Amino acid sequence: MQNIQRRTLLKTGLAGAISGLLMPNHSKAATFDGYTESMGVLVDLSRCVGCRSCEAACNKEQGLPAPDKPFDDMSVMKELHHGQKRRPDESHYTVVNQYDVKGIDHPLFRKIQCNHCNEPACLTSCFVNAYTKTPEGAVIYNPDVCVGCRTCMVACPFNIPAFKYSSAFSPRIMKCIFCYDTRLKAGKPPACVEACPNEVMIFGKRADLIKLGWERIKTNPGKYVNHLYGEKEAGGTAWMYLSGVPFEEYGFNTHLPKEPILNYVKDFLAAVPMVLTIWPALFTGFHLLATRKDKAKEEKNGGE
Ligand code: SF4
Ligand code: SF4
Ligand code: SF4
Repeated sequence: MQNIQRRTLLKTGLAGAISGLLMPNHSKAATFDGYTESMGVLVDLSRCVGCRSCEAACNKEQGLPAPDKPFDDMSVMKELHHGQKRRPDESHYTVVNQYDVKGIDHPLFRKIQCNHCNEPACLTSCFVNAYTKTPEGAVIYNPDVCVGCRTCMVACPFNIPAFKYSSAFSPRIMKCIFCYDTRLKAGKPPACVEACPNEVMIFGKRADLIKLGWERIKTNPGKYVNHLYGEKEAGGTAWMYLSGVPFEEYGFNTHLPKEPILNYVKDFLAAVPMVLTIWPALFTGFHLLATRKDKAKEEKNGGE
């Protein structure tokens, strides 16, 4: 099956991609209606007890380093960094944070990772085609073509892609890949989903999960707010959420448009005059960097 990367992105090389980025275009992304058989995860936030088993399982599955503070240290979930709650970074593809909500006598917890958008802004904003949306539903990333421009980090409406600062000469974006190679491709649930002792997350076809989510809302009056987060936000996401309190209380952005973010990113970039003047220079820099990377690789391989 053709993937969205091929279908959506400009195929005429970097120069073509840049002009596409600068030209507001509402037609490309708006025509994609998603992979109907793609998989997703339904997260019932009201069930999460903040045990961080999902975090530990992810680091193990993805071969990420052990955290500075162990996974059984629950204090980290309250931590703020520059006034913000923890977010995924190069050593953690997923983090669980604690939220203390007025009028509720116990803490609430939310697991954060890439939501695997139907029409990902990270993918559509990347001019070297480093991202792919697979028919199974994952948004994956190819470090070999990434030039480290970090446009995807700016474009993502959920603040997910992280930059691997420890490898300045080998740019690399780090983010949850839905356990694509090790599990999703074979139809298996992600490691974090499987590790959860409280059945917070359900893995299944996205279309079925939407039905299940609404069924839960309707058959449990008063238990959940009347909103399945991710069904529509930013064009829809593979990971979707049920909550017993307004989503703002968990720090969700509830002002996202229903349309894919790409349209807004392009409009924004096109509206910034700086882009028109500085971008060509940046582009040349990225291109040189990419060429240098290729050359270094060739030399390393003995010019094969
Ligand atoms: S949540 Fe962000 S990083 Fe993940 S697919 Fe969507 S735009 Fe990309
Ligand atoms: S889906 Fe896989 S990569 Fe993503 S947070 Fe879960 S365990 Fe980590
Ligand atoms: S494993 Fe389940 S209950 Fe524990 S923190 Fe993760 S989502 Fe919450």
